[in-house]
Amino acid sequence: MDRVDCVVAGAGVVGLAIARALAEAGREVIILEAAEAIGTGISSRNSEVIHAGIYYPKDSLMARFCVAGKRALYEFCADHGVPHKNCGKLIVATNEAEAGKLASIEARARANGVDDLRVLSAAEARTLEPALACTGALLSPSTGIVDSHHLMLALLGDAEAKGANLALNAPLVGGRADGEEIEIDIGGAEPMTLACRLLINAAGLDAPLIARNIAGMPQDAVPTRYFARGNYFTLSGRSPFSRLIYPVPEPGGLGVHLTLDLGGQAKFGPDVEWIEAIDYNVDPARGERFYRAIRRYWPGLPEGSLQPGYAGIRPKIVPPAIAAQDFVVETPREHGVAGLINLFGIESPGLTSSLALAEHVAEIAQTLPH
Ligand SMILES: Cc1cc2nc3c(=O)[nH]c(=O)nc-3n(C[C@H](O)[C@H](O)[C@H](O)COP(=O)(O)OP(=O)(O)OC[C@H]3O[C@@H](n4cnc5c(N)ncnc54)[C@H](O)[C@@H]3O)c2cc1C
Repeated sequence: MDRVDCVVAGAGVVGLAIARALAEAGREVIILEAAEAIGTGISSRNSEVIHAGIYYPKDSLMARFCVAGKRALYEFCADHGVPHKNCGKLIVATNEAEAGKLASIEARARANGVDDLRVLSAAEARTLEPALACTGALLSPSTGIVDSHHLMLALLGDAEAKGANLALNAPLVGGRADGEEIEIDIGGAEPMTLACRLLINAAGLDAPLIARNIAGMPQDAVPTRYFARGNYFTLSGRSPFSRLIYPVPEPGGLGVHLTLDLGGQAKFGPDVEWIEAIDYNVDPARGERFYRAIRRYWPGLPEGSLQPGYAGIRPKIVPPAIAAQDFVVETPREHGVAGLINLFGIESPGLTSSLALAEHVAEIAQTLPH
């Protein structure tokens, strides 16, 4: 049987960032990707926003990794020529009750180390974005957008430059842990078994499935997976906005916001629905909800200007009744399986957090026997 030091299962933005960090730390790395290309999962079905780190509970992994990841990501993009834009965003209140929440959002951001938010009056906000209707707003100058596919290619390029190898069409289908090594079964056209000292399970929506299929992994340490689909609609014609526009968040999500791609094209979403199985179809009938939600802050949205776009699925590990979850990085200390690190529930802001998450995982890996 072939042996390798580290296997990373999943070539999304998180798996690729981890593979890069491990390879740069001098580890031998193989990346296994079930699909025929990198980044076809959650990482290519999101808002592509570089989040500032505003909303997450103080000291949560989301707060820590988003704030650190944002800084690292801007630097990485600049160094590697990854298209991105620090366009800023406005969080807009559309009635007095929402306006009252802006101060608590600002306070939470400050607790997370995001101290550059500015409270704006309605008139100040409209000076920045004349098409906007609001009763007040918060400006987040450090929010931005990134081309997630370029980002993933750049992460892979760095990892490969340090000797990492990528295998496509190579799903990890199961394994066995014996206390020293993990023997893994790889499916696909050329099935094989491989032994590794370190297995990083970064398979996004499928991470709980992989963990469940490792013999020796305590099943009660594997979360149940739930799917929350975020639907997007796109705008035909040019956007009158040059910043991202977010409503005041609602329980369970950030609300239907406007984000821009690097070509200036606007998309709106995600409008969230809980589903039973992975399914990316966007129901055109949801358009009415989008018009209603968007017109609260952009009354001039023309009739007939929205089309169903795409959908992404949040890798939830808590049911709908529990709105909030944190990232879970589960190590041998939690589950007792030597050499296994599971990443569960890496939903938003996972793209922004990817480099910081990767650094954290690489640091843990260095403390494990290898
Ligand atoms: C609607 C939505 C909007 C979002 N918006 C933002 C945002 O604006 N900003 C932000 O920071 N974050 C955002 N996120 C979160 C972010 O997109 C994710 O946290 C991040 O992309 C997760 O990356 P990943 O590598 O963990 O997962 P994925 O990208 O899904 O990668 C997992 C990979 O594992 C592969 N895989 C699955 N099973 C196996 C197997 N058995 N063997 C080998 N490979 C396997 C899959 O094919 C996939 O390529 C959003 C998420 C959603 C759903």
